[in-house]
Amino acid sequence: MTDCITTGWVSSGGAFVTRLEEWATEYFGAGGAVAVSSGTAALHTALLLAGVGHGDEVVVPTLTFIAPANAVRYAGASPVFIDAEPEYWQLHPARLEEFLVKRCRRERAGVVDLETGRVVKAVLPVNVLGHPCDMDSIVAVAHAAGLVVIEDATESLGSRYKGRPAGLLGDYGCVSFNGNKIATAGGGGLVVTRDSQAAERARYLTTQAKDDPLEYVHREVGFNYRLTNVQAAIGLAQVERLDELVAGRRWVAEQYREAFADVPGVEFMPEAPWARSNRWLSAIRVRPVGGGDSRSLLRVLAEHRVEARPLWQPLHRSPAHGGTTDGGDWIADRLNREVLCLPSSPSLTDEDIGRVAGLVSAFARERGRIRPT
Ligand SMILES: *Cc1c(COP(=O)(O)O)cnc(C)c1O
Repeated sequence: MTDCITTGWVSSGGAFVTRLEEWATEYFGAGGAVAVSSGTAALHTALLLAGVGHGDEVVVPTLTFIAPANAVRYAGASPVFIDAEPEYWQLHPARLEEFLVKRCRRERAGVVDLETGRVVKAVLPVNVLGHPCDMDSIVAVAHAAGLVVIEDATESLGSRYKGRPAGLLGDYGCVSFNGNKIATAGGGGLVVTRDSQAAERARYLTTQAKDDPLEYVHREVGFNYRLTNVQAAIGLAQVERLDELVAGRRWVAEQYREAFADVPGVEFMPEAPWARSNRWLSAIRVRPVGGGDSRSLLRVLAEHRVEARPLWQPLHRSPAHGGTTDGGDWIADRLNREVLCLPSSPSLTDEDIGRVAGLVSAFARERGRIRPT
């Protein structure tokens, strides 16, 4: 940061921006990477690179933070929501296939959603809570239908899928450096692409699509999405410590996992055989027993000044995206009712983790003795 200030390179462009992009290109084995102002900007840019435009449709998991669905709307397209699988809470590959095979038909215009009449252009899986999706299955199904895959790896930097870094297992990858993520730059993100030409186009679109820098000629409507050099300097210092940051989160997760191994009705978020999650957030599933469900545990923790949080409202119910209030048997609804994220920062001490685990365990054991009213 001092270097940025003494050289005057504080804004968009500069040596640290280039170095951060080089780091990402190498880390993901990519054709190119472009630093941008946020993870949401990365998603919007990747959608544009994938050719998503007005009236199109993009597949998004219903169980995720809202940003990917919003980015689809920025591109003028509509999200179509697919349920989560019950084991690891990620985009359900079988439901995706069912949607593409049963509800869509390949026509001259492309893959048409017969219910909405829209052309489906891309699939946007999210590695929820840092745990990788079953990407081989998702990419196979999507590519068989001729669709582009954009991996939302904003929560999963440092995670691995079958030994490979999660993030660019499809066609495009998106990273976030927001303050609450595993590695931060204060704010920011990355678009990662398989081919270098797409990275050049990303660079063009995110710097106001300038065609003639001298005469200010622009052939397209671009965006001011570039990351500043000061942020890149912070981000670079963080990703250099990525292994340590992941080890810290995994250590926290392991303490909880052991503590809840024999606690009735409380399951720590499992890790798939193909996955090595960065354990961005440590989450538990609280089965409702008697009068004690996840929300009553949430209140108990709050009374002891421990901040836990439920998962996001499933997006097929989100008012921002024309959500439904009808019943329907969605796995995501059940996960939304039962899952809580516990304090997960690597800065927690052994005593902090022990105190949280003790409160959860005491709650679970006590409620077993309470009869439903
Ligand atoms: C955080 C997050 C984003 C957005 O990243 P920002 O840098 O905050 O814009 C996108 N998708 C998911 C799933 C996220 O959790």
